[in-house]
Amino acid sequence: MPPLLGDWRHGFAALGPSFFTELPPTPLPSPHWVGVSGAVAALLDLPSGWQQRADALQVFTGNALPPGSQPLASVYSGHQFGVWAGQLGDGRAILLGETAGGQEIQLKGCGRTPYSRMGDGRAVLRSSIREFLCSEAMAALAIPTTRALCVTGSPQPVAREELETAAVVTRVAPSFIRFGHFEHFAARGQEVELRQLADYVIDRYYPACRGAANPYARLLQLVSERTAALLAQWQAVGFCHGVMNTDNMSILGLTIDYGPFQFLDAFDPNHICNHSDHLGRYAFNRQPGVAYWNLLCLAKALLPLIRDVEQAQAALDDYEPVFVEQFMARMRAKLGLLRTSAGDETLVDGLQQLLAAGRVDYTIFWRRLSHAVARGDFEPVRDMFADRAAFDAWLLSYKELLARDDKALSADLMLKTNPRFVLRNHLAEQAISAAKLGDFSELQTLQTLLARPFDEHPGFEAYADFPPDWASTISISCSS
Ligand code: AMP
Ligand code: MG
Repeated sequence: MPPLLGDWRHGFAALGPSFFTELPPTPLPSPHWVGVSGAVAALLDLPSGWQQRADALQVFTGNALPPGSQPLASVYSGHQFGVWAGQLGDGRAILLGETAGGQEIQLKGCGRTPYSRMGDGRAVLRSSIREFLCSEAMAALAIPTTRALCVTGSPQPVAREELETAAVVTRVAPSFIRFGHFEHFAARGQEVELRQLADYVIDRYYPACRGAANPYARLLQLVSERTAALLAQWQAVGFCHGVMNTDNMSILGLTIDYGPFQFLDAFDPNHICNHSDHLGRYAFNRQPGVAYWNLLCLAKALLPLIRDVEQAQAALDDYEPVFVEQFMARMRAKLGLLRTSAGDETLVDGLQQLLAAGRVDYTIFWRRLSHAVARGDFEPVRDMFADRAAFDAWLLSYKELLARDDKALSADLMLKTNPRFVLRNHLAEQAISAAKLGDFSELQTLQTLLARPFDEHPGFEAYADFPPDWASTISISCSS
């Protein structure tokens, strides 16, 4: 039998004990498979038939260690809801190591660590399914994200608002290093470790920085640009993260730590998806600004290495222009506009105001608009707006810009840019309810649809339809 995971390398572990605590996962009784991603299995080059292997189920539940792994929980700190929270760390995630192909494998929900604080070290089935489905949905939308190989479940009870059961998500990413890792060593004045971490991140993930006059300023600049590009994608697709604390910000610009996230149903710029976010700090339209605030925290942490406030500040100068440029590029693609023109921003602004005023369903609007351009019939889109006159005025200026492009090319671009299927809260809820009863078919259906979100998938219209009334009563908090 070939080894499940082949050879390991341990770049992060080589940083040394200041960065983590070595410890094995805590086993869970009677594990079973909940969901598996074939795409991530391929990414990891897992041997064929791996899912049938007993060792795989045990390894990905944290009940057995794959040979050559070096399990550890890393330490980080961070700002939560704008307030310095001090030391946090992997309170329920254990890094097994890094595969020969350069992918780190982390088990989330596999027991207490020295960084668990008041937590039980566990993750519940509900939140694990949400993370699994959304990671893979984002990847299929070509949005940078940590991946999820699988979820396993166990009958072990876990106390949240209600009694739930335990699950483990196997997360995969080139690195799980967060802004908070840098803040941790900066806050403690541990400059040696701070430099070691920055050098590691540069050598492994941003090697081009080495040639820069100030490699650490250049690192900050590149992280800022990636973050801007990520936020442009979130805002264009209508994704609300919900907990953009600095410890939930990836140094690689990946979407990380799926908790109370939500894809917008009706377009509401002020939408707050996290019921624990009473002040709306992480409201949808605040996300780009919050990411910048988080980058300021990272800049402050890197200052002892950059050594010059002006250079640190200048490294963030690109954030806004990159965000605007990337966001507009996405919006042009969503509108099927093949070239840039002076009226684009006004057109997008005007549309956002219309969508907000009419609380128009964001995903359905874009998909209908794509079909409208393909067929030359805008009536189904017009039907979505109560204020028809305002929509008609907007449509007139849109059609003017569109007329300069080839209609077939525009429609094709739109159908590849505007997904028919996104992981709406109520769809996740349906899959979770069935999974709690041991039925994983709904989860698999969603997985199939979300893996190819731009395809029509005839017969699955209901999954692309307006949310039912009860969707707005779903309450998603930080509890996971
Ligand atoms: P989050 O808001 O989910 O990103 O979590 C913030 C911090 O709390 C991180 O350090 C987590 O590892 C930790 N944490 C969250 N839930 C638990 C839990 N059930 N047990 C232990 N630590 C947890
Ligand atoms: Mg987190």
